[in-house]
Amino acid sequence: MPKSLLPEPIVTAAEIAALKDSAIYAEKAAGLSRNRMRFTVRILVVGGLMTAEKLRAAATLANRYGNGTLHLTTRQGFEIPHVPYQKLPLLRKALEKSPLESARSGKCVRAIVACPGTYCKFGTIDTQGLADALFKKFGKRKNLPHKFKIAVAGCRHCCSKPQINDLGIMGSARGFEISVGGMSGKSPRWGDKLPIPAKNKTELLRLIKLIIDWYAVHGNDKERFGAAIDRISFPRFLEDIQTVS
Ligand code: SF4
Repeated sequence: MPKSLLPEPIVTAAEIAALKDSAIYAEKAAGLSRNRMRFTVRILVVGGLMTAEKLRAAATLANRYGNGTLHLTTRQGFEIPHVPYQKLPLLRKALEKSPLESARSGKCVRAIVACPGTYCKFGTIDTQGLADALFKKFGKRKNLPHKFKIAVAGCRHCCSKPQINDLGIMGSARGFEISVGGMSGKSPRWGDKLPIPAKNKTELLRLIKLIIDWYAVHGNDKERFGAAIDRISFPRFLEDIQTVS
């Protein structure tokens, strides 16, 4: 049979799912042909901060493997769109050798978003330093019921939208105000505010660990944190984290 009449090899659903676990997302396509499918490769950014060196590396990868563009995600991340399937292995190798890291994907703590409260004139806390510290401490938490998003804001203007994150932190004169169970998406939910703020960073880290542990134990598979709180009740959640604190 002439080569042109042979069916084109396709990208299988299993391959697409495995790529998604590595923060590589299939783009919309007319079919699953390996020659035609394009992917978006997401890069980790914590607290919205990128060094000039990382930006140069991302630009090089976008030029070499994508179509020379980079997209900024709504959660302060970078992604390289329109990467052909055949170029993915080379891009992944190049990414490993670069100062960049792949974004987090799946049922885990995702990249942490922060406003520039560190130097914004309204900022009451070091938002970017805190985002970095939180990611270092909790960024490896996996096997949660669903994704877990954290945002840090330096003051009550809440530019980083902590109330629509699974865990939101807002700096205030009282300390670190915390909201839980927020989300955007198809069924948006405003986070519930904890009655008492964390007085200092040590207390904040301790509380966040308790909160994530609670979700890991009580959340059902594929249930967002806010939905778990609604099912079990916010007073009960508060009771539970106070009981173990
Ligand atoms: S939330 Fe407050 S500190 Fe952060 S950028 Fe907005 S105004 Fe500045």
